[in-house]
Amino acid sequence: MHLLEGKTIAVMGVANRRSIAWAVAESVRKLGGKLIFTYRSERAGRELERLCQDAFGEDVPLIVRCDVQDEASLEAAFAEIAQATERVDGLVHSIAHARVEDLQGEFVETPREGFDLALETSAYSLVAVARAVRPLMTQGGSIVTMSYLGAERAVPNYNVMGVAKAALEASVRYLSRDLGPNAIRVNAVSAGPIRTLAAKGVRGFNDVLHAVEERAPLRRNVTAEEVGDVTAFLLSDLARGLTGEVIHVDGGYHIVGI
Ligand code: NAD
Repeated sequence: MHLLEGKTIAVMGVANRRSIAWAVAESVRKLGGKLIFTYRSERAGRELERLCQDAFGEDVPLIVRCDVQDEASLEAAFAEIAQATERVDGLVHSIAHARVEDLQGEFVETPREGFDLALETSAYSLVAVARAVRPLMTQGGSIVTMSYLGAERAVPNYNVMGVAKAALEASVRYLSRDLGPNAIRVNAVSAGPIRTLAAKGVRGFNDVLHAVEERAPLRRNVTAEEVGDVTAFLLSDLARGLTGEVIHVDGGYHIVGI
């Protein structure tokens, strides 16, 4: 199966091998897509280089620094990508951040700076990135972001990140409207809980994993690979009629009552 043959996909948000973004990259690679990576911290950059050397050998893909909170960094990153490739066909936004102290206790206590930080990094960044990649998607394209059930339900401790994910999902709809005439599709995957670096910051994360195991129709948690495969589908032409959508990859957990 070479569903992504001939497509160049930019993947943003690999911190380490457990990152959902890395699983997405593996799925893209299996389906014949060409990868470009962006990272934020020096540490993530070194980790990404190691991962790529193991996975790609000599043929290491372009790896570019991009801090989505920094307009200059965003601009420089997409200028570098534009230099290196004729066009971009897909972009995966797998980025979120909030202060650990804002991912526990009562949401009502969230201070202004914690709220702003979470919304800027986790939701506005999709808008900024979509604007930056749009001129590079000269033959249309597909943008995919990662969301979570906390956008729709009040999940204990997820708090301000749930509000950020609600803004992210609404942004997916507005961006779809704007970019649809350019044949650029924008969708979100709402992933079930997966043990990653970002998930470590959410208090009571183990309870969430247990709840899914007990109550999801599939009676288990999903893997990053399963999220990666659905993301690859959204990046492919199989999903050419699909935009503005939020697809749940959560073992069906979101559909159950009690
Ligand atoms: P992760 O920690 O591996 O990835 C988060 C990434 O965000 C990191 O690579 C980090 O460098 C990046 N990031 C944070 N601030 C940034 C900035 N200013 N500029 C650029 N990059 C920045 O964790 P993950 O679980 O793979 O998270 C990826 C996405 O999946 C996030 O949007 C997260 O909310 C979402 N998600 C995760 C779960 C889960 O249970 N792990 C479930 C649903 C959705």
